Amino acid sequence: MTRHRWLLLLGALFATVALTAAACGDDDKTATPTAAKTAAGGSSPSATVAPAPTFAADSTMVAIVKKGKLTVGVKFDQPGFGLLDPASNKPDGFDVQLGKEIGKALGLKENQVEFVEAVSKNRIPYLQEDKVDLVIATMTINDDRKTQIEFSHTYYVAGQSILVKKDNTTIKGIDDLNGKKVCSVQGSTSEKNIGAKAPKADLLSLDAYAACVNAMKDGRVEAVSTDDIILAGFAASDPSLKLVGGQFTKEAYGIGIKKGKTDMKQFVDSVFQKQFADGTWAAIYNKYLGKVEGLPKAADALVIVKADTTGG
Ligand code: GLU
Repeated sequence: MTRHRWLLLLGALFATVALTAAACGDDDKTATPTAAKTAAGGSSPSATVAPAPTFAADSTMVAIVKKGKLTVGVKFDQPGFGLLDPASNKPDGFDVQLGKEIGKALGLKENQVEFVEAVSKNRIPYLQEDKVDLVIATMTINDDRKTQIEFSHTYYVAGQSILVKKDNTTIKGIDDLNGKKVCSVQGSTSEKNIGAKAPKADLLSLDAYAACVNAMKDGRVEAVSTDDIILAGFAASDPSLKLVGGQFTKEAYGIGIKKGKTDMKQFVDSVFQKQFADGTWAAIYNKYLGKVEGLPKAADALVIVKADTTGG
């Protein structure tokens, strides 16, 4: 055997061992206390060890593990889902935590999960151009987007609403946006929905929601409209703002995956099924959304999420 072939063989052997070890590390929660288990609030360890997931050699998952890095597009300006901490220069939130959990399920270490900022209009191009492996960025699953990318199972169900200043008395619902200056974000369903439901609104389209909130504070617009849970994140950190108008759309969030990578979709869905069952999803919900007023308890929210079939 030539030296070259021997090295190839050794490499293949190492990759197999590494994958198996990684898979065991993920599944054998009785032997390896993981952050997921802690986050799940100490879910009861099962006595049986689940068999290690075996990924096909030519699968998307093996390619990511071999690359040694999972790249995830997240928001950097949305409290609760994806917000960059200027001190650590790292994002945190519901979406960011989901990315970490998927990395862990692949057998990667936390520092092997890389987060890059994806604004709404970049989410699909980033997947198509292989700039990211996953987009986890408050992204609504819909038929139009399904023609361009794959979506995971639904992991959160939001609804579009309106944010105004607390002293605003003229905007109480979607109809009141007609004739008013409203800000939303390019490439979002929110922007489209305003066009359809309040066609006479004077729409300012910016890159990101934090910029819209600033535009409202500066007096450039009277309202910001997007998903209620995003707006609630801004309202929670600024007592001069309030939500009005209830939910006037349904926005089921899914993880975006490049079109055709159905193996990755199945894998991500299997991670969700595990998270739904072992308490991890509920722990993430409580950690990031637990203080948001008016939200259902984690157990009730989970019933809605599990039953939602928007992602297929
Ligand atoms: N969920 C909506 C969307 O995917 C609005 C939120 C966002 O732009 O991130 O377009």
